[in-house]
Amino acid sequence: MSNIDYLDYRIDKVLITEEQIKERIKELGKQITKDFKGKELTVVSILRGSFLFTADLCRSIDLDQKLDFMAVSSYGNATKSSGVVKVEKDLAESITGKNVLIIEDIIDTGLTLSHVLKLLKTREPASIKICVLCNKPSNLQQHVSVDYCGFTIGDEFVVGYGLDHKGYLRNLPYIGIVKPEYQ
Ligand code: 5GP
Repeated sequence: MSNIDYLDYRIDKVLITEEQIKERIKELGKQITKDFKGKELTVVSILRGSFLFTADLCRSIDLDQKLDFMAVSSYGNATKSSGVVKVEKDLAESITGKNVLIIEDIIDTGLTLSHVLKLLKTREPASIKICVLCNKPSNLQQHVSVDYCGFTIGDEFVVGYGLDHKGYLRNLPYIGIVKPEYQ
């Protein structure tokens, strides 16, 4: 458990508690372990939003695994993606012939992940699966086939557990909604 047990003053309400996140990650880890049994996994964590999710999820996957990171940014305003994605940091190793599991924080329009997926497919991995912490289907513009989803949420801007608001609040142990006056 984290030592942050107060509600941050900028948070309106907690949408998903630390306990709920932990429970769901255990379930996802079990399912992924089962589905990839006998295979080696290359976990590709999309920075920065998925750093905590990746750290917890990879420890609940009981498989031989390599971990790599890709940092992407999508141009847009504070709370909306434009779909123009820039790779700021590419993977350190080749994924050709590997069983890749992409770990992403959230799908909103789907534009970022579909761009990343298209790019990684050109490198000819053996397989690519996608695991997202949160999926917001109401804003979807580009369909992305999600294999593992932590939580399906409504059309709300969420923060915490890796997700930021103007760079802040990533360290909150829960997922919450920011008060309108701070948005
Ligand atoms: P998409 O391209 O699917 O619209 O958005 C992808 C990126 O936008 C996510 O990886 C995330 O960085 C950011 N994003 C989308 N929705 C939210 C949200 O509700 N909260 C936060 N903090 N970031 C979001």
